[in-house]
Amino acid sequence: MFVSENLGVNAKGHLTIDGADTIELAQQYGTPLYVMDENLIRENLRRFHDSMNKFYEGRGEVHFASKAFSCMEMCRIVASEGDGLDAVSIGELYTAVKAGFPMEKVGFHGNNKSDEELRYCLEVGVGHIIVDNIPELHRLEAIAKDMGKKPHIMFRIKPGIEAHTHEKVLTGQIDSKFGFALETGEAFEAVKEAVSCGNVVFYGVHCHIGSQIFDIEPFEEAAKTMLGFIAKVKNELGYEIKGLNLGGGFGIKYLTEHDPEPFEKFIERVSAVVKAQCAELGIAQPRMYIEPGRAIVGSAGITLYKVGARKVIPDIRTYISVDGGMPDNPRYILYQSEYEAVVANKADQPRDEKVTIAGRCCESGDLIGENMPLQHAESGDIIAVLATGAYNFSMAMTYNRLQRPAVVFVKDGEARIGVRRESLDDIIRNDV
Ligand SMILES: *Cc1c(COP(=O)(O)O)cnc(C)c1O
Repeated sequence: MFVSENLGVNAKGHLTIDGADTIELAQQYGTPLYVMDENLIRENLRRFHDSMNKFYEGRGEVHFASKAFSCMEMCRIVASEGDGLDAVSIGELYTAVKAGFPMEKVGFHGNNKSDEELRYCLEVGVGHIIVDNIPELHRLEAIAKDMGKKPHIMFRIKPGIEAHTHEKVLTGQIDSKFGFALETGEAFEAVKEAVSCGNVVFYGVHCHIGSQIFDIEPFEEAAKTMLGFIAKVKNELGYEIKGLNLGGGFGIKYLTEHDPEPFEKFIERVSAVVKAQCAELGIAQPRMYIEPGRAIVGSAGITLYKVGARKVIPDIRTYISVDGGMPDNPRYILYQSEYEAVVANKADQPRDEKVTIAGRCCESGDLIGENMPLQHAESGDIIAVLATGAYNFSMAMTYNRLQRPAVVFVKDGEARIGVRRESLDDIIRNDV
């Protein structure tokens, strides 16, 4: 009935998420409100790590990409499932540290890491630093030497794979700001230098080809290309690369008609390719890492809004204005992303109108979506926008000095606060 299977309708005709009544949540916690289904987050993590165990004999690790949704409670959930994290800033690292996350299971990314961030990585003992460029390698070496540490590193490689997705989330092609290029020999020269460094351990190679990818083929191609590179390094430099990190990017259902491959299929097919290639190339099977972000949290989240005005412009469109918008969900203004929505207090009624859901900011482009099928919505109704668990809260901003919404976690019908709503004093906290 709805795009995510954890959603239902109760006897009052109210939308439910993992059994919790969304209208009661909106009343209790206010709107806008992010609601995250803890059971579904855990199930998604398990689907990935269980299939790594099954198809790659337990020699794989799942690192949740924090940038999709980072807060301390999320770090605790990931830790309790035994999985790792991928972090891209000192803020994401700090969140993990404060949540008591085992930092040896963290990989640190970024195309422009600061010295402060590199030092912090060594101080808190992150498992791997994924090095993006040669100046960064040199800075890291100097910092490691100074601190008397020997961090494990991977190299971010651009494997030159084109996946079909939005161009702003394509990252594996040669014209990308991320990582070392394979085709030009840049990556090989960099590895030559890294394996002879005294202050770092060159452990692995990493690639991330993009995001919201539905096909398995680009992942298989990326794995093949990366293994070819591992074989080249072994044959020409006599150096064995132990880790292969294939990044994230697994696509999810935002609309009912979307039909991504199940996560298990990705892991099954990619594992088979890795094993076959290793046999063919005569190299040892590397430890395999994946970094799903969207796939873990996307479908697990919804956002609740209260409807203010209904504005009908005859023969043009109907605007339904809600009490949030681009500050809590900038994905429409960034990528024209599509979502499904439901009037949560009329969830048992048909969605027989087509409307534009507008945010409350002083921007005409501040929309949640256009041409969205919806029940007849009026002032005071609660609208749920579905599958907003990834890249919504984590991208939220305070434009127009709006307070960022609260995050509530739901588990077996019970809700608890994960992140409090910002107060007016939070808005002026750093003003002098
Ligand atoms: C963004 C990103 C991810 C996660 O991507 P999803 O599409 O959310 O799975 C993983 N690894 C790296 C390096 C990334 O930049």
